[in-house]
Amino acid sequence: MTRSREIRLASRPRGEPSLENFELVQTETPTPGDGEVAVRNSFLSVDPYMRGRMNDVKSYLPPFEVGQPMDGGAVGEVVESRTRDLAVGDTVLHMKGWREYATGKAGEFRKVDAAVASPSQYLGALGTTGFTAWIGLVDIAQLKEGDVVFVSGAAGAVGSVAGQIAKLRGASRVIGSAGSDEKVSYVLDELGFDAAFNYRTSPVREQLRDAAPGGIDVYFDNVGGDHLEAAIGAFKTYGRAALCGAISQYNSTEPPSGPRNIGLAVPRRLTLRGYIIFDHMARFADFMEEVGPWLAAGRIRTRETIVDGIENAPRAFIGLLHGDNIGKMLVRTSPG
Ligand code: NDP
Repeated sequence: MTRSREIRLASRPRGEPSLENFELVQTETPTPGDGEVAVRNSFLSVDPYMRGRMNDVKSYLPPFEVGQPMDGGAVGEVVESRTRDLAVGDTVLHMKGWREYATGKAGEFRKVDAAVASPSQYLGALGTTGFTAWIGLVDIAQLKEGDVVFVSGAAGAVGSVAGQIAKLRGASRVIGSAGSDEKVSYVLDELGFDAAFNYRTSPVREQLRDAAPGGIDVYFDNVGGDHLEAAIGAFKTYGRAALCGAISQYNSTEPPSGPRNIGLAVPRRLTLRGYIIFDHMARFADFMEEVGPWLAAGRIRTRETIVDGIENAPRAFIGLLHGDNIGKMLVRTSPG
């Protein structure tokens, strides 16, 4: 047995989550049995979709159970092994979530190469985050050379990678939106977007029209709401949207009222297509083949916002929903 700490769901939020919805619990991680490993986590992924799982609503993943640990992406090092498949010292990814130590069957852990990239990158650009960006642009929105592309949540984990992939794949102009002037500078100066605006300073519709006077071909939607409505208004004929997420609605207690201009979808022959990344795993190797070398060569740049200590995971999560992060939001665990 190893002493460990984990975060459990204490109660379901209504609207915005608060610290009272989470509980830090001291536990003992079982000693691995035959075919099992014990892993000491180094980084926990903090993701917007976890907000949906806090509600008692059936979706593409089951809701978190009150009183149970918050599961989700994590990366760590094997510290005990009773399987030939994984050795002590291996770096592994898993979905056992917000805990310092995890024990389970070898098949529940995927070995990654810590010599190729830092372990945290496998939760970010080299993992689900980067893959979500790539699938959304390439397969869902069917990005073509010369397209004008608009990405919302552009300074966030998925959006920052999406905009850079669009440029590398030949988009003629990439426009981003984000929630602060600091983030706008990051998107323009470090990520190389052609234009960017702070959506909090004036209506998205007006700022998008100024940034793309000729209209847009592709919209990568992380936000929904006013951003989606603005994109529909800016689409050229045959515009395509990859509906990746709608974070502006995640804390809403009422259904969204729009997009009010959805009627434009017919005359403009628009394609608005939602997707869930887990349905596309067969394309993961293709993603790695293209994006891995871009990351290794520094042609795609990434940032991480790291919060230390598992006890601060709830604070990091609430902060993510408020835009406290630039790039991927992570919790670094440092168990004794
Ligand atoms: P981010 O790193 O983008 O973090 C979330 C960001 O959302 C915040 O930093 C904040 O930035 C922004 N935000 C919060 N509230 C609002 C609001 N009301 N309006 C506009 N922006 C807001 O998270 P991820 O990159 O991990 O996720 C991005 C999106 O992708 C999410 O919608 C997520 O659910 C979705 N997703 C979908 C997947 C799929 O399979 N379809 C898989 C993975 C992610 P700011 O300061 O700019 O407001």
